[in-house]
Amino acid sequence: MSRDSLAGLLYVVATPIGNLQDCSPRAVETLKKVSLIAAEDTRHSRRLLDQFGIQTPLQALHEHNEQQISSALLKKLAAGENIAVISDAGTPLISDPGFRLVQACHQAGITVTPIPGPSALICALSAAGMPADKFIFEGFLPSKPSSRAKHLQTLAEETRTLVFYEAPHRILESVSDLAEAFGGEREVVLARELTKVYETIHHSTLSALLAWMQADHNQQKGEFVLIVAGAPPVDNQEISSEALQVFHILREELPLKQAAKLASRITGVNKNRLYALGLEQEGEK
Ligand code: SAM
Repeated sequence: MSRDSLAGLLYVVATPIGNLQDCSPRAVETLKKVSLIAAEDTRHSRRLLDQFGIQTPLQALHEHNEQQISSALLKKLAAGENIAVISDAGTPLISDPGFRLVQACHQAGITVTPIPGPSALICALSAAGMPADKFIFEGFLPSKPSSRAKHLQTLAEETRTLVFYEAPHRILESVSDLAEAFGGEREVVLARELTKVYETIHHSTLSALLAWMQADHNQQKGEFVLIVAGAPPVDNQEISSEALQVFHILREELPLKQAAKLASRITGVNKNRLYALGLEQEGEK
C-alpha cells in the first residue's frame, strides 16, 4: 500500500462470534502491533485479548461516547499512531459501534483498512440453504410492537432473502410478528448460537418455527439470526384454494383494495396479485 501522509492507519478488525479459533492470525498480529484498541466493552474484550497474549491498551468506544472519543482518536491517528477498532463480537459497524469513527477518518483523509473475519449474518447465510446471491440485511427489528408491525408490513413483498438479528427476550414476539406480516407458510431458517456448543440451524416455516420454539425453551436461548425467504415474484405466485376462499369472502363484504390487503395479511399472498385477480374477475362479470 503506498501512502503519502505520515498519518496512522485505522484497522477495523473482526473478532470471533463464539469460537475463539475463528480469530485470524492477521487479526491477532494487527491487535498486537497497534498502539491502541478502541473496543465496545473493554472488560469483555480484555478477556479475548488475554487469550491471545495481546497487551495493547484499550479505549472504550460505544454508542454513547463514539462522537467524543472519535475526535480524540482522530488526533492520535493524525499524529501517526496506528489504532484498531473492535466490537464485542463479529465485525464492527454491523449492528455495532464504529460507523462514526470510520466516517470521521474518511472525512479527515485517514486510511481505514479492514481485517475481515466473522460476522453472524454471513455465517448464517452461508449455511442456511436460502438464496444468498441477493439479500437484504435488516439488523434488529424495532423494539416497539407497533413500529415493528408497521416496518414488517413494508417488507412483506420484498423478493430478496431477508436477514434479521434478534435477542432471546424478543425472539418469540418477532417470529410471531413475521408470521403475521408475511404469512405463516413463509420459509425461514433459524441460526442459533453459531460456532458455539449449541449451534442450531433449523429450516422451517414461520408458523411451524414459532410452535417449535414455544415447545422447547432451550431453543429460545442464546443469539439468533433469522433468515426469511423473500416473497415469490408476483407473477409466479401460486394461490391456494384456501387463500382464494378467504379473498372471495372478503371481496363480498369489502371494496377490492381493502379485501386484497386484508386477504394478503391473512394468507401471505401478495396483495397486488390479489388486487389484479380481483380486477380480472370484475372484467369477466
Ligand atoms: N457485529 C456483529 C456481527 O458482525 O455479526 C453483530 C453484533 S449484534 C450487537 C449481536 C447480534 O448478532 C446478536 O443479537 C445476534 O442476533 C447476532 N449474533 C452474534 N453472534 C451470534 C451467534 N454466535 N449466533 C447467532 N447470532 C449471533
